[in-house]
Amino acid sequence: MEFDTFREMIEKSDSIVFFGGAGISTESGIPDFRTNGGIYNQKNTYSYPPEVMLSHSFFIEHTKEFFKFYKDKMIYKDAKPNAAHIALAELERRGKLKAVITQNIDGLHQAAGSKNVIELHGSVHRNNCMNCNESYDLDYVLNSPEIVPQCRKCNGIVKPCVVLYEEPLDTDSINRAVDFIESADMLIVGGTSLVVYPAAGLIQYYRGDRLVLINKSETPYDGKADLIIRDSIGKALSRVI
Ligand code: ZN
Repeated sequence: MEFDTFREMIEKSDSIVFFGGAGISTESGIPDFRTNGGIYNQKNTYSYPPEVMLSHSFFIEHTKEFFKFYKDKMIYKDAKPNAAHIALAELERRGKLKAVITQNIDGLHQAAGSKNVIELHGSVHRNNCMNCNESYDLDYVLNSPEIVPQCRKCNGIVKPCVVLYEEPLDTDSINRAVDFIESADMLIVGGTSLVVYPAAGLIQYYRGDRLVLINKSETPYDGKADLIIRDSIGKALSRVI
């Protein structure tokens, strides 16, 4: 029943925006940060909690430990796009979907073929020398002979373009996300509990009457949604697209 409504809403819309959180990547085997089984609830073999190890000050003060943890827990090189990523890419190809806004850093939307992806928290696939700004791919970081990847031009530290705790989000990405949400005729939100900044704030910019929330658990925005689907995002999207 809700899938029929969902399908009709998509048919009526031609400026759809998808906003996604970790829940879309868990279906590709990438653990969520906060839910059960997520990184924060796993038995931690490191001396510090993950939110400390993924902070800017930890990166500066304990660069080697940061990269050990980062390569061990944050990189899922063999993860493949799932049904949700593939359905969204298809919706963009049909001209209906204008943007994917994601809090994920894994690049799986692009791997599925999506073109306009706004990555609020950056991407493991972009890495820059902190000294000369030379860019490097993920393989360079993973294959570096030392734990801390070094620039081949100047020996500076190569830092992933991933937003760490204590670091600000990229203003340009936020502004683009707001623009797309404001002009969307349909907003599909999936795999996020909508409690963490900036997700909660961004949803408020949506002015239309087709707000669809796909999440297995309740969110603070359930009361505002025009349609709620309590199911897997991959299943929900592939059923209607
Ligand atoms: Zn350099």
